[in-house]
Amino acid sequence: MLISATAKLYYQNPYWRECTATVLQQITDECQKNWVVFDQTIFYPTGGGQPHDTGYIGKQKVLDVEERDGVIWHQLDTPLTSDQKQMQMKIDWERRFDHMQQHAGQHILSAAFAEECKATTISFHLGQETCTIDLDIKELTDEMAKEAETCANQIVFENRDITARFVNEEELEKYPLRKKSTVEEDIRLVIIPDFDYNPCGGTHPNRTGEVGPILILQWEKHKGHIRLEFTVGKRTMDLLHHKHALLRQVSRVLQTNEAGLLEAVLRVQEEQKRLTEELLQVKEELLTYERDQLLSSAEELHDRILITQLYEERPLTELQKVAQLITGQATNAIVLLITGGVKQQFVCACGTGAHVEMNTWVKHILPRVEGKGGGNVLIAQGGAASRYSLEQILEYARDELYMLLEK
Ligand SMILES: [Zn+2]
Repeated sequence: MLISATAKLYYQNPYWRECTATVLQQITDECQKNWVVFDQTIFYPTGGGQPHDTGYIGKQKVLDVEERDGVIWHQLDTPLTSDQKQMQMKIDWERRFDHMQQHAGQHILSAAFAEECKATTISFHLGQETCTIDLDIKELTDEMAKEAETCANQIVFENRDITARFVNEEELEKYPLRKKSTVEEDIRLVIIPDFDYNPCGGTHPNRTGEVGPILILQWEKHKGHIRLEFTVGKRTMDLLHHKHALLRQVSRVLQTNEAGLLEAVLRVQEEQKRLTEELLQVKEELLTYERDQLLSSAEELHDRILITQLYEERPLTELQKVAQLITGQATNAIVLLITGGVKQQFVCACGTGAHVEMNTWVKHILPRVEGKGGGNVLIAQGGAASRYSLEQILEYARDELYMLLEK
């Protein structure tokens, strides 16, 4: 059955929130979704960068709205019964008006960029929280953005008319369009007199004052263009409220007012840097103390000294540091530090006067503890299979060291 095009009431009056419509057809698609066509509708379908409306038709929730060949299809959460012919439609007005603000705000901002910066808008995306436009320029400075934003908000403050009318190609030529229409017939022109003439199928408020504040948030380079993020209308107010609350919270935490905030943050940063340096110094002192403790517990080994120690759990890097502090202090020292934890690991180090090769020692220990490791003559390290206790590792390492020294 051929269905005639749906009468689009949102073009007659974008402020209509409710209407009655007659059911023309209902189908269930291959994904088990219910779609209904009416003689007329106030539900705007996805298109022209604007998301579809939601709302209710009778008691049924409208989940999606699509246009195909002039026919508007409404996806309902449950099918209509055969006796449901005349239905009451109601759109989610808050969502629609938000879309109207974002869409018209985009027209104004794009026109302002064209006017102030000779930058053409090549695409628009209306997102859940913010909107973006892609501008056909390579660079955007703070000054340029500020000028365009000021110009856009000036148009809002002047509360100019926004009108929309369908024109044919001939009439279209009379208007100073910034971009060519993508459709050839039923061209809908959205007009802000003496400012912007834009072919667009979206919904817009009647006056620029209803658009509300336009705020540029940030921009970045994207595929050779500039992608600019902004908010319009109530979204701008919500965002500013949120930011203001956050600033107040942070000010309270830092015990300052908004004007002193930056200074307070810099002070905290400076203080943290100082404390980190102090902490490093204290750690260094602790390690030195530990070095001296370990040196005092050293056992004599011919003309060398041997220092061994077991740890429940310590990072290998810390053990290397302690070992090197000892061998730096006592050149005849041989150090073996073993730690448990996630892995059993050990560090072997010696001073330049000890005359033993640490990598050779480790190479002899490894087969006995089923481990892997390596290093150089002065410091080497290895891991052991988990079934060997720290005491066993120590015992095997000692055996190997005595054998090495006897050679
Ligand atoms: Zn539009």
